[in-house]
Amino acid sequence: MDFYSLNHKAPNTSFKEAVIKGLAPDKGLYFPTSIQKLPASFYDSLSDLSDNAIAFEVIKQFVSPEIPENELKRIIKETLCFDFPVVKIKDSISSLELFHGPTMAFKDVGARFMSRCLRYFTRDQKKETTVLVATSGDTGGAVANGFLGVEGINVVILYPSGKVSEVQEKQLTTLGQNITALEVDGVFDDCQDMVKQAFLDRSITDKVQITSANSINVARWLPQMFYFFFAYQQLYKHHKNIVFSVPSGNFGNICAGFMAQQLGLPVHHFIAANNSNQVVTEYLESEDYSPKPTIQTLSNAMDVGNPSNFVRIQEIFKNEFQALKSNLTSFSFSDQETLEAMKRLYDSYNYTADPHGAIGFLAAEAYQKDHPGTHCLFLETAHPAKFLDVVKQVIPEQIELPTQIKAVMNQEKKSIPISTYKELKAILLGDF
Ligand SMILES: *Cc1c(COP(=O)(O)O)cnc(C)c1O
Repeated sequence: MDFYSLNHKAPNTSFKEAVIKGLAPDKGLYFPTSIQKLPASFYDSLSDLSDNAIAFEVIKQFVSPEIPENELKRIIKETLCFDFPVVKIKDSISSLELFHGPTMAFKDVGARFMSRCLRYFTRDQKKETTVLVATSGDTGGAVANGFLGVEGINVVILYPSGKVSEVQEKQLTTLGQNITALEVDGVFDDCQDMVKQAFLDRSITDKVQITSANSINVARWLPQMFYFFFAYQQLYKHHKNIVFSVPSGNFGNICAGFMAQQLGLPVHHFIAANNSNQVVTEYLESEDYSPKPTIQTLSNAMDVGNPSNFVRIQEIFKNEFQALKSNLTSFSFSDQETLEAMKRLYDSYNYTADPHGAIGFLAAEAYQKDHPGTHCLFLETAHPAKFLDVVKQVIPEQIELPTQIKAVMNQEKKSIPISTYKELKAILLGDF
C-alpha cells in the first residue's frame, strides 16, 4: 500500500519507506492512499477467528506487498503474546483491558509490531539502525521492551531525570542489551528538542541511520486497530450499539478505532475521553481548533496540548465537521473527578482502574445519560500498578504488583546522565 503525506508536499511512498522515515519529508503524517472494507465473509466468520487471524485480515492491505504473508503472520504472532479481555463493570459499561502486555500499557502492541517491521525492512543492511526516542513515561518502556533483542537495531531513549514514575524508570533502564537509557538533566521538552536536533544534524545522519518510534509512525498506529475488532468479537452477540470510550492524548488510539470503522466494523459511536487538556472537546463545541500549552495532570500520558494524530481523524472524515461530530463526542474531566471515579469504581464495582481508564469510564457514563440503549466499552490503557502513587490516594487495599513489574523492580538501574546535545551526539556517533 502507498501512503501520502497529509501536508501534500512530498511524494507518495511505500509502507516500508513510511516506517523507516516516520514523518514525510514535508513534515506531514503519512496516510494510506486507499482503505478497502473487509468482505462480509470476514464479519460472518468473526466469532470463529483467532486473534492472530483477525489481525492478519485487518492489517494485510496496509502492509502488503512489502511484507509477504508468511512474514506478516510471524510478525503478528510475535506481537500478540498476551490477551485483551473485556471485563463487565455494569450492564451498560465494560472495560477493555489493554494492559496485559510486557510493559502493561497498550503501547506494547504498536511497539512490538513496529520493531519487527523495521527489522524485516533492514534485514539485509550491514549498517545498524538506531531508534531514537524521547519519552515522558509510557512510550519509552514500551519501545524499549518491544525492540529488546531485535537484531541490527539499537535503541536510545531520552527521559527527564526525576520526572517519570519509579516503575516507568525501571522499565527503561534495566533492560540492557541493545537498549541505552539517557537520563537527561531537564524536562520532557528538553529531551524532545535534543531528539529533533539529532534528526536534523547531517554530521549524525550521514554516518548513522536514525529513525523515530513515536506514535505518528504508521507501524505503531495501524496495529491499534486490532483492539477494536477483538472487543467487538467478544461483545457483538450480547450487545447492540457498541460505543468505544477512548482515553486520548495524541489521539492515535482513537484514530485507529476510526480506521477499524472504515474497514466496516459496526461501531455505533466514539467518545474521546480527555483530561484538562481539552482542545478537541472545545473544537467539537465551537468548530475552532486551537492548540494550547500542555497542562500537567494525574493522567499524564494524555497531557497533550496539540494532539498530533487529530489531522488523520479529520482526513478520515474528509475535513467535514458535521460528519466528524456525528461520529465523535468528547468529554474532559479534572483530576478531582478522576480520583472520585477511581474511588467509585472500586467501591461500587470492585474494579481498580488507573487514572486514564477512570476518565474513559466517566466519559462513557456522561455519554449514556443522553444515549440509553448503547453499550460502552472504555479502554483501560494502563495497569493501575503503573500509577501507584495516584491509586494509593483513593484505594485502601494494597495492589498486588504484576509479575512483569516485580521482575524489573528488582533489577539494577543503568542509565547515562547527560545534560547537553553534545553528549547525545557523542553517544550516537559511538565515541564516548
Ligand atoms: C499513550 C497513552 C494514552 C493516550 O493514547 P493516544 O494514542 O496518544 O491518544 C492513554 N493512556 C495511556 C496509559 C497511555 O500510555
